[in-house]
Amino acid sequence: MKTIIKNGTIVTAESEYCADMLMEDGKIKAIGKQVSCEDAEVIDAQGKYILPGGIDQHVHFSFQFNGTSTRGFKTSCAAAAGGTTTVIEFVNQVKGKGLIESVEDYRKKNADGVAAVDYSFHVVMTDPRLEVVEEIPQLAQVGYPVMKLFMAYKGMFFHADDEAILKALLKAKEAGVTVMVHAENADIIDVFQKQLIAEGKTAPYYHAVSRPPVVEAEATRRAIYLAETAGAPLYIAHVTCREAVDEIGAAMARGQSVCGETCSHYLVLDESNLAKPDFEGAKYVCSPALRTPEHLEYLWHGLNLGWLNAVSSDHCGFDWKEQKHMGHGDFRNIPNGAPGLQNRLSVLWTYGVEKGKISRQQLVDLYATSPAKVNGLFPQKGSLCVGADADVVIFDPDYEGTFTVADMLHEVDYCSYEGMEQKGRVDTVFLRGKKVVSNGEYIGNNGDGQWLKGSPFGLLYQS
Ligand SMILES: [Zn+2]
Repeated sequence: MKTIIKNGTIVTAESEYCADMLMEDGKIKAIGKQVSCEDAEVIDAQGKYILPGGIDQHVHFSFQFNGTSTRGFKTSCAAAAGGTTTVIEFVNQVKGKGLIESVEDYRKKNADGVAAVDYSFHVVMTDPRLEVVEEIPQLAQVGYPVMKLFMAYKGMFFHADDEAILKALLKAKEAGVTVMVHAENADIIDVFQKQLIAEGKTAPYYHAVSRPPVVEAEATRRAIYLAETAGAPLYIAHVTCREAVDEIGAAMARGQSVCGETCSHYLVLDESNLAKPDFEGAKYVCSPALRTPEHLEYLWHGLNLGWLNAVSSDHCGFDWKEQKHMGHGDFRNIPNGAPGLQNRLSVLWTYGVEKGKISRQQLVDLYATSPAKVNGLFPQKGSLCVGADADVVIFDPDYEGTFTVADMLHEVDYCSYEGMEQKGRVDTVFLRGKKVVSNGEYIGNNGDGQWLKGSPFGLLYQS
């Protein structure tokens, strides 16, 4: 399969230029002026931008909450439709099983032959027994160089205390495994939640009241000091507030290898959404919680400073009608998370590039290149260099419309950005040279995706 994209403007994390691109056998074969190839399909991309396929390093296709689950890997076609060609899913270690066994079992059962885009995993350590901690270095050898620990969710089986985090950090650094944390103080949340419910404050809005910025700031700071104690790199998932951004910036200034991601919804949706009437606020219940507009502005600032280096979706597809309503009468029972897999690139373009908050090069870095580096997938992924996988997005900047659930392939009954203005859209997507989106329409298949083996020392390579 050979394709030439002509007359487009190629955008990378470093530069922008007009050139033709030849894709052959799943790879980028040539970039230059007047590239030709006899039997190639030729696509004219005049007036359009050519971007690397996105890497969404934070998705949940099998997240369980109160016994109910998110939509599975078969909905990963939504990633492709939104310009994301690689997703990285979280897998909980199963009690009694090892880390690698848990993730490999999950992969075979849920992703192989089903995923519509390429995929990898972050394993969540839930059972920090000695032999499990000892297994951490092997994660890097088999291709899983990032693991995750949850500081939030007191009483849940996947909650990790400081001892577990420190042990993981000490072991992980030996082998180039990066520890990623969900940083929220579980005890503060628990006390606040019980207090609010006792006062009869049960509506979705109180989800945000129960986990204010200090909850995130304290845990972020604690995780950073644990990483300093261990002399290990640290990655902070879904940073949402000024205080946490500042903790990361201060650690970087001290020379620590620390960085964080934020997510598209934290950049454009504020906590007023949680106050929507008729239980609609439940659609926006995610953790950490949505913040006030000042924090949103500061997140853009954090991206510009490089204190945050990626924008993920934290896609978590729970239906509003059935699943979110489990928390009617008690916000603690609302499944946490919101869908956004398909919207990430267009949200960043509309509210970042078009509003002058980030450049096109920064967009590419935040949605593709940096996450590829953190996860040990660069330059095979997140790059438009010759020899890289031909994961390529042709982006039409002239499109104007609105985000709506009718356009979503995620099989969830709502869109987090419903009714919001959209400028620019994904026109065409290639996954390793195969066209999976054409003229905005998804034309790929389940099973198009392949498992990716990550290399160790991603976060160190990044810095
Ligand atoms: Zn998440």
